Amino acid sequence: MYRIPFSKVDCSGNELRYVQDVLESGWLTTAGRALELETKFAEALGARFACAVNSCTSALHLALEAIRVGPGDKVLVPTMTFTATAEVIRYLDADPVFLDVEYGSSLLTPEIVDRGLKLYPEAKAVIVVHFGGQAAELMNERGEGILDICHRHGVRVIEDAAHAYPTRHCGRFIGTFGDITCFSFYANKTMTTGEGGMLVTNDEAIFHRVRVMRLHGIDRDIWNRFSTPKPSWEYDVVAPGYKYNMPDVNAAIGLAQMERAGSMRVAREHCARFYMDRLKGLSMIDVPLMHCQFRDHSWHLFPIILKSEARHSRNEMIRLLAERGIGTSVHYKPLHRMTYYRERYGLRAEDFHNAERIWAGTFSLPIYSLLTETELEYIVTTLWELIA
Ligand SMILES: *Cc1c(COP(=O)(O)O)cnc(C)c1O
Repeated sequence: MYRIPFSKVDCSGNELRYVQDVLESGWLTTAGRALELETKFAEALGARFACAVNSCTSALHLALEAIRVGPGDKVLVPTMTFTATAEVIRYLDADPVFLDVEYGSSLLTPEIVDRGLKLYPEAKAVIVVHFGGQAAELMNERGEGILDICHRHGVRVIEDAAHAYPTRHCGRFIGTFGDITCFSFYANKTMTTGEGGMLVTNDEAIFHRVRVMRLHGIDRDIWNRFSTPKPSWEYDVVAPGYKYNMPDVNAAIGLAQMERAGSMRVAREHCARFYMDRLKGLSMIDVPLMHCQFRDHSWHLFPIILKSEARHSRNEMIRLLAERGIGTSVHYKPLHRMTYYRERYGLRAEDFHNAERIWAGTFSLPIYSLLTETELEYIVTTLWELIA
């Protein structure tokens, strides 16, 4: 029998060699490799500034802090996301406002954001999640979209791009649109450093604030402390900052991953095309709703939605697939169903019609660069046996 995990890390490039170099250098924390990763990452996206951190959660926290989100402020977020997107709002004693998403794509749409901002005109920011690796409609050919709506309301746009490297939109990479974009290099994401993240912005003042807050609120970075003529013990603290820097050991993995980001994306696109082609005839499921070309999608996830009339329930399907050696996952149990948010904000499932429909039937199929043709064939055949 096959044994196909839901996700598999691909470290088949220079990862080991670069990590070994760092270990042999004797300097394991943040220095030259992290700086190199920042430079290369910003360059690859066509963005001005990138700041390497120890997670996307840290990046999101720093982003909200940098735009001065504080106690009592409201920040709009989709309910269909990982809890990190919303928890960082609570770190700053501000309050998330949960929005429903589009059925099929799990994305915020311009219409949903517009409605949200009319209900909460005092909102300080919107966090847009590029769900599964497909860009939300930040703008269209006429320049209209989520960005333009937010700018009209004087609201900042933070992008949770944990799934969206490399994702394109209107001929540019995600990371060049909103005020701040946050990427995740967690182990199962499209590019990994084990644990890690990157904050990207074109705004110099934001970049400066983020760099200071990333490391204890100290006014200079570690490597400067040891390479400038100033005495190495001298530094100043301007705020109670955080400990969110990315060690060079992790950055080394990231540099090797970046070299293969394009080819790994193409391999995932191949999986996505295979699934689309072979599953579209299955009337009991909905395949992901695409608003973009295959090549513009990072293809982090391939979530399908099982219809309520199907022979087996979603939970049964996950169990039956596991029995047949196929790992799956669910993205996501929506945040309005989570005890903390539901109780604190008195949330009701009936206010999230689309997210509820998605949640009832969704599960995600394996999609990664190491997935073989034989494995794809086996997954598709098994799905037809269980669903058709
Ligand atoms: C993984 C993920 C995060 C958090 O990323 P970390 O690097 O683990 O902090 C945030 N948002 C979304 C949508 C994610 O999938």
